[in-house]
Amino acid sequence: MAENPGKQGSPSLKEQFWDPVAGFGVTFRTMFRKVVTEQYPKEKLPTAPRFHGRHQLNRWPDGLEKCVGCELCAWACPADAIYVEGASNVDEPDPDGNSQRYSPGERYGRVYQINYLRCILCGLCIEACPTRALTMTNEYELADDNRRDLIYEKSDLLAPLLPGMEQPPHPMRLGDDEKDYYKGEYKAAAAGGDTA
Ligand code: SF4
Ligand code: SF4
Repeated sequence: MAENPGKQGSPSLKEQFWDPVAGFGVTFRTMFRKVVTEQYPKEKLPTAPRFHGRHQLNRWPDGLEKCVGCELCAWACPADAIYVEGASNVDEPDPDGNSQRYSPGERYGRVYQINYLRCILCGLCIEACPTRALTMTNEYELADDNRRDLIYEKSDLLAPLLPGMEQPPHPMRLGDDEKDYYKGEYKAAAAGGDTA
């Protein structure tokens, strides 16, 4: 027959006196341990080196964009967070004599958006990218108070221009065709070149 909890005997001396003291002992010992509370956002700790943070669209060492607008990243995304519209590079200058080339090869990403309200930072998109155009940084501060600012445009995602790089559009500076770029058969125009 099951024991009736209401009919249990009175607490023992150990339960009355020792157990509360033992409980406070844990509190007392913990008071002298190193504090583990993180003082974010006043103090920001570095992430793990391979932490998946905000994305970056990388450039070649001459500044041309690595993205070829293929949309493979968008197809790989399980959250449907990426939107890409590709367009063709044109080698003939426009009527003002300006180049119309943004990347080596035929195509470039004319529109590139990542919706950080959808993105789960899983990294499948960067695995799918055939040119290493898309990588992820360690930046994790992606909160905001409105939807619009959490849809990052290409201009928000493009890697900064390093010394020796030139803002596209401009002709291919590192080789005669895209194969020279993809094979790495060029002299790096900038120290460090690849911003990936
Ligand atoms: S990290 Fe994952 S969820 Fe975010 S855009 Fe890439 S594939 Fe989509
Ligand atoms: S980021 Fe990579 S996978 Fe995505 S469209 Fe550009 S080249 Fe293709």
